[in-house]
Amino acid sequence: VEFKGTFNTKHERSMTLADQAKRVAAEFDFEKDAVNKAVKEFIREMDEGLQQEGTEMSQIPTYVTAVPNGTEKGLYMAVDLGGTNFRVCSIQLHGNTTFSLTQSKVAIPRELMVAKTSKELFSFLAKQIELFLKAHHEEHYAGTLKRRETGNMEPDQEIFNLGFTFSFPVNQIGINKGMLMRWTKGFDIQDAIGKDVCALLQTEIDELHLPVKVAALVNDTVGTLMARSYTSPGKTGTLLGAIFGTGTNGAYVEKLSKVTKLTKDQNAGEYDKSTGEMIVNTEWGSFDNSLRTLPNTPYDVELDKNSVNPGIQMFEKRVSGMFLGELLRLALLKLVKDPAVPLFADDNSSSNDVHSTTQIHDSSPIWKQWGIDTSFLSTCAGDSSPGYRMLRQTLDKEYDISAVSAEDAEAVREIAGAIGRRAARLAAVAIAGIVINTGRLNKTTGTATTEQKSGIDLSRGEVEVADEDMIDVGVDGSLVEFYPNFEEHIREALRGVPDIGEQGEKRVRIGIAKDGSGVGAALIALVAGKVASPQE
Ligand code: BGC
Ligand code: MG
Repeated sequence: VEFKGTFNTKHERSMTLADQAKRVAAEFDFEKDAVNKAVKEFIREMDEGLQQEGTEMSQIPTYVTAVPNGTEKGLYMAVDLGGTNFRVCSIQLHGNTTFSLTQSKVAIPRELMVAKTSKELFSFLAKQIELFLKAHHEEHYAGTLKRRETGNMEPDQEIFNLGFTFSFPVNQIGINKGMLMRWTKGFDIQDAIGKDVCALLQTEIDELHLPVKVAALVNDTVGTLMARSYTSPGKTGTLLGAIFGTGTNGAYVEKLSKVTKLTKDQNAGEYDKSTGEMIVNTEWGSFDNSLRTLPNTPYDVELDKNSVNPGIQMFEKRVSGMFLGELLRLALLKLVKDPAVPLFADDNSSSNDVHSTTQIHDSSPIWKQWGIDTSFLSTCAGDSSPGYRMLRQTLDKEYDISAVSAEDAEAVREIAGAIGRRAARLAAVAIAGIVINTGRLNKTTGTATTEQKSGIDLSRGEVEVADEDMIDVGVDGSLVEFYPNFEEHIREALRGVPDIGEQGEKRVRIGIAKDGSGVGAALIALVAGKVASPQE
C-alpha cells in the first residue's frame, strides 16, 4: 500500500488516523437502549421457542430434569466434540463436590470437519476412545482384542457408561438419542444432518468391540450447568450454563409447565416429571437471525456473506471466538485501504527506528479470510504498556506487519476493544433475558440485602447479598477465560437493563466451570445409568 496522504506533519497524520479509528470503533457501539430492545426480543424468542418447533431460538428440551447436588459418586467416561478439539476423559466423582479427571485431547483434523461422510469423523472419534482406554484403563480395555476374534462380549465384562458431549444443535428425543439439526462453527458434513449422532458413535465403538455404551447425549452448555451445580451447589442451585468460546450458547433450568411443545407432544420420549423442571438448551447462537435487534455493521454483513452458513447463527457471529478475529480483520482492512490515511503505512523515518517504514508483507494473514485469531483481541485489550510494545510485537511476529508505529497500534487497539466490548454486551443480552424471564429476580428472601455487617462499608455502595438470593451462572470458553474484563463489560450492560439494575446485577454470580462439559456429561451418564439399571 502506498502512502498517498498529504500531511504536513506526523502529528497531523496521527490525529486524522485517530479520528478514523474512532469512527470505525463507533460502528460497534451497542448502547443501553439497543441492549434493552434486544433483551425484550430475546425474551419473546425464548417463549416462542418453548411453544413451537422451527423457531429462531430452538429451545431444545434436554430430557435432563434435575441438577446434581455434589453427592454423586462413581467412575464414568465422557467425550467432547466441540469446535476445535476432541477430548476423551474419565471422571471419578468422589461424592463430596470434588472429582478427579484423566483426559486426553486432540485437535480435530480440519479435513474431518468437512469430510464427505460422517463415518470418517465418527470412526476417528472411536479410535481416540480406544487409544484412551488402552493408555489409562487397561482393566476395561483387556479382552477387547480377544472379543475382536470371537465377536462376543464376555458375560462379566464391565461396561463404561459414556456421556457424549456434542456441541451442536441436536433435536433431542431421549437422553441418549438426538438428530443433528445443523452444523455450526465451520463444520460441514452433509450426510450427518437428521441422523442420530449417538447411534453414529455407537456403531463405530461397536466395530472396535470397545466395552463402552453411549449412555447420554449432552450439549456442552448442559454439561457446564451440571458441572457448576456439582462443584458449587449454592442454596438455590445453578440457573444457567453458558459457553463463550469458539461458539456461544446457553442452557438453563425451566419450569416444565412452560415447555409446552414437549408436554403436549404425544410422541415425546420418557422423562421424569417429578421435579417439575427441565434443562432447556436455548441454542441462542441463532437468536435474532432476522436481525430485528442485533447490530449490523458492514463488517458483520461481509463476514456472514462469506461464511459456510449465511443467515444463521447471527448472534454467534457477533459474540464468539470463531468470528471476532475476522470482524477485526475486515474492519482493519477498511482502514488499510483508506486512501486518505491508510493504516500501516506510516513513515517513521524521523524516529530512531532502523526499520522505519511500516510494511504489511504479502505473506501477512491479514489478507486472508479468518487470518486474525481472536486471541489477538485479548492481546490488544491486555496491552497497556507504553507504546503498546506487546501488540506491535505480535503484529510483527504473527501477522507479518513490521515496524508498526505507536499511533497505528493505538488505532488497532481502539477497534479491537470496541469489537470485544460489543461481544460482551451482547452476551449480557442473553444472560439478562434468562434471568428476567425465569422470574429469579422476583424470588428473594429479603433477609440480607442491606444487612449491616462489620467490615462492610455501606457508604462505598457495597451490600451483602444472601446466598439464597444469588443467581448462579456457570460459564466456560476461551473468551470468558482469556479476554480481559469480559465479565466486567457484561456486568456494566446488565446494570443498564431496567429490570435488573444495580441491585439485580449484584445478585448474579458468574463462575468459571473450566472444562465442565466433561464432568457434566459424566453426571448425566450417571443419571442415565441409574434409569437403565434401577437396582443400583
Ligand atoms: C452450537 C451449540 C454449542 C455452542 C458452544 C454453537 O455453535 O450451536 O450447540 O453449545 O456452539 O460450543
Ligand atoms: Mg468446548
